[in-house]
Amino acid sequence: MRVASLSSYDIRFPTSRELDGSDAMNPDPDYSAAYVVLRADDGSEGHGFTFTIGRGNEVCRAAVDALAPLIIGGDLSDLGGLSRRLTHDSQLRWLGPEKGVMHLATAAVINAAWDLVATAARKPLWAFLSDMPPDELVDLVDWRYLTDALTPGAARDLLVDAAPGRASRAEHIREVGYPAYTTSAGWLGYPDEKIRHLAHQAVADGFRQIKLKVGADQADDVRRFALARAAVGPGIRIAVDANQRWDVPAAIGWMTALAPYDPWWIEEPTSPDDILGHAAIRRALAKSGPDGGPIRVATGEHVANRVVFKQLLQADAIDFVQLDACRVAGVNENIAILLLAAAYGKPVCPHAGGVGLCEAVQHLSFFDYVAVSGRLDDRVIEYVDHLHEHFIDPVVIERGAYRAPSAPGFSTRMRPESLVRYAYPEGAAWS
Ligand SMILES: [Mg+2]
Repeated sequence: MRVASLSSYDIRFPTSRELDGSDAMNPDPDYSAAYVVLRADDGSEGHGFTFTIGRGNEVCRAAVDALAPLIIGGDLSDLGGLSRRLTHDSQLRWLGPEKGVMHLATAAVINAAWDLVATAARKPLWAFLSDMPPDELVDLVDWRYLTDALTPGAARDLLVDAAPGRASRAEHIREVGYPAYTTSAGWLGYPDEKIRHLAHQAVADGFRQIKLKVGADQADDVRRFALARAAVGPGIRIAVDANQRWDVPAAIGWMTALAPYDPWWIEEPTSPDDILGHAAIRRALAKSGPDGGPIRVATGEHVANRVVFKQLLQADAIDFVQLDACRVAGVNENIAILLLAAAYGKPVCPHAGGVGLCEAVQHLSFFDYVAVSGRLDDRVIEYVDHLHEHFIDPVVIERGAYRAPSAPGFSTRMRPESLVRYAYPEGAAWS
């Protein structure tokens, strides 16, 4: 199969009207997707997208259109080669390299290609990847800039070691699902009573971890954390997320003030580019927990590419790897990040939420468990209860866990009526 055509869409949801998704850095997001439909020469389709929060989504769409000449005619039996063709184009590479708008757009295109191929194979993407031989998985990765940390040979060994347990882990995860945590309780714009109610409800729904947004006002954060802790009790993990709001000293000071309430991790304490800053924060908080244990550090949703993840791991700067299905260049680069995390023994706890990120990223975690790390300990996928109704194969959460997707593809297809209604600026939702 070869790619015959590419169509792009600017899709936006007016989420800022309810303060859903509000945090210290992003007070009024309109969750949006630069959305791609690829058609193969046999008529089959693949859908993918990248996520933005409103203004500038048209820039991502333009970047998608700039990639179209590179992918049309591309061979869908070689998605490693096809993805390198997109990221290595010398003129477009100048706009990154491998970061920013071009990289977001590349994610949308590559994810659509994977949806097409997995759909054609009649398998959910996670199972399609989990059935691939180790050598083929290794060939999907762009190894440039990684080999000082992980060689293709070492990655192959890791996958070969995990191969005998694939079938039993696939069976297990189909039965129990993949653990989730919820961010829906803790948006910064929510009043105290709503946080208390939603935190309590999350535990009743089976979640063992919740997350609160922090970073705008320290006294408010102490009060909100205290009431959330009182609502859920001591046995539930509460992570906090500053969305890059702080300098390094402020992160350390602020987290020291929140420490009595037992934060499980601090997410994005500072700039996603600041590897040494994350390492300094992690070192400073290593004994700051209420029992003298660590306050752990997590980041990844804005980490530009596999090279920055490599350095975060080499510098021992993070405890949790929060890859994102659409920030780096799609499935291929995320396989590189899963392999790096497994090699360094760090749990992957993907970023999700937004629009469609839960639908997409679940496939990467299920694949990680079955074929890469083989582990579930301390691993959770973020869950946010927004906008799933726009997808043909929405996520299913039961008792605090993602059920294994069973429909063919990447779960990235929006309903045709949503693509019409939320098209920006002409759709009925915006008129
Ligand atoms: Mg976050």
